[in-house]
Amino acid sequence: MAERIAAQRIGGVAADGTSGDDFHVVNPADGSVVATLELASPVDVDAAVEAAVQAQKEWGSATPAERSAALHRLAGILEAKAEQYAQTETLQTGKPIKLSREFDVPGSIDNVAYFAGAARHLQGSAAAEWDGAHTSMIRREPVGVVGSIAPWNYPLQMAMWKILPAIAAGNAIVLKPSEMTPLTTLMLADDCLAAGIPAGVVNVITGAGPVAGEALVSHPKVGMVSFTGSTPVGRRVASLAIDGLKRVHMELGGKAPFVVFDDADLEAAVHGAVAASVINGGQDCTAATRAYVQRPLYDAFIAGVAELMASVRLGDPLNEHTDLGPLISKRQQERVRDFIERAVADGARVATGGRIPATTPEAGAYFEPTLIIDARQNSEIVQSEVFGPVLVALPFDSDDEGLNLANDTPYGLAASAWTTDVVRALRASREITAGCVWINDHIPIVSEMPHGGVKASGFGKDMSPYSFEEYTIIKHVSIDTAGVARKDWHRTIFGDR
Ligand code: NAD
Repeated sequence: MAERIAAQRIGGVAADGTSGDDFHVVNPADGSVVATLELASPVDVDAAVEAAVQAQKEWGSATPAERSAALHRLAGILEAKAEQYAQTETLQTGKPIKLSREFDVPGSIDNVAYFAGAARHLQGSAAAEWDGAHTSMIRREPVGVVGSIAPWNYPLQMAMWKILPAIAAGNAIVLKPSEMTPLTTLMLADDCLAAGIPAGVVNVITGAGPVAGEALVSHPKVGMVSFTGSTPVGRRVASLAIDGLKRVHMELGGKAPFVVFDDADLEAAVHGAVAASVINGGQDCTAATRAYVQRPLYDAFIAGVAELMASVRLGDPLNEHTDLGPLISKRQQERVRDFIERAVADGARVATGGRIPATTPEAGAYFEPTLIIDARQNSEIVQSEVFGPVLVALPFDSDDEGLNLANDTPYGLAASAWTTDVVRALRASREITAGCVWINDHIPIVSEMPHGGVKASGFGKDMSPYSFEEYTIIKHVSIDTAGVARKDWHRTIFGDR
């Protein structure tokens, strides 16, 4: 029997939700129930925000060194529990254990270590006497309480990206993970307490988006909303937050282009395309989804990708040799299958994959790595986010055409260009409209560098020093240094007296 868990963390206390609605966290590898929980109600959200308001007063006045020390302790706890985190992440998402062990968990721990240091390096301009009669200085202050909403694709990493810059800068947070994948976020909230981060600084509300999510982003005591998820839901969340005149940070969907010029290293491009489209089952906002290949390399690229994709080992995500586990749910599996069916009905062809595999358990949400060819640029499969292990390849002739096609979707999160020509590389990095452009690689991220999109992929940055621009408020303090009762500027009022 699946364990029943208390899935709310409010003011440091583990509690049940009070919505009356039970929810099952499901292992997508076999459809079994991993845990059952009661979802949060708006009452729970209100309690969590109140706990955050109270806790933030003290946490916001802690010294950067104190906040940094707590984060260093957290990094140590996570190191010791890395395997437990990896197992739990794989259980609730179906991602291969080697990905959890080598990417999600170490990346998350590195985020903690980075923000432990960054907490002591909030930057600002120097104090100065701009008009000769006042000293101006800049204070960088926490926003207060941040309401954050995260998706299911990288539950632990997304929780980190939300929590760390917020609390490093002295905010308190109420985080709503996806109700499908709350387990590692709940572990993290408990470990924050164990690390000495005061109760109420990190609160977790596990609830349904339209209920708990909307209550959180509309709450009058939430000063900032940070959302990672799909573009349609982001639009709804942003409109609610803007209605309350809150600060808004949006990390939304993507449809990353992968542009291969005719001088590219073909082997590197083929391996890069398969790895970057299959990673995490393609359920990655930066995954390579549209390969534009310059005509001389097109046929060889297609053949290489199809062959390599067919060698990807699908199966039990807990098996160390599995390359690709199930998608997040049966619903997602059907969604991906329907995308492929519509693409084929629209004239595209499946070069490899395209099916629910026959070799994996029927109750699992598996899907074959898929290469689609002969699709039209303006067709759904090229324009819309599939969120599955699906790559579409299209040929191009001139460099201008390739770069134009790369920019021709509503999204602008990430992109890559493959070339051995430095001029082409620099041109692509300048002309592709995206938050990140990789040259001769696609996917790697580091804590020191920002992540975040443009266009329908949102605005604002996760990680890096730039994230503090989202999570802090700039205040100008102006101190009179003339020391006289009758200030010079008073002549605009009293000049004739
Ligand atoms: P989603 O938009 O369906 O859900 C995201 C979160 O929003 C979940 O916690 C969900 O419960 C909540 N939610 C749903 N409806 C809501 C509402 N009305 N009000 C408030 N909250 C609501 O996205 P998903 O399916 O969980 O995740 C996949 C999406 O996330 C993809 O589009 C992917 O590109 C995107 N994503 C983006 C980034 C990035 O950094 N840009 C990173 C990871 C994932």
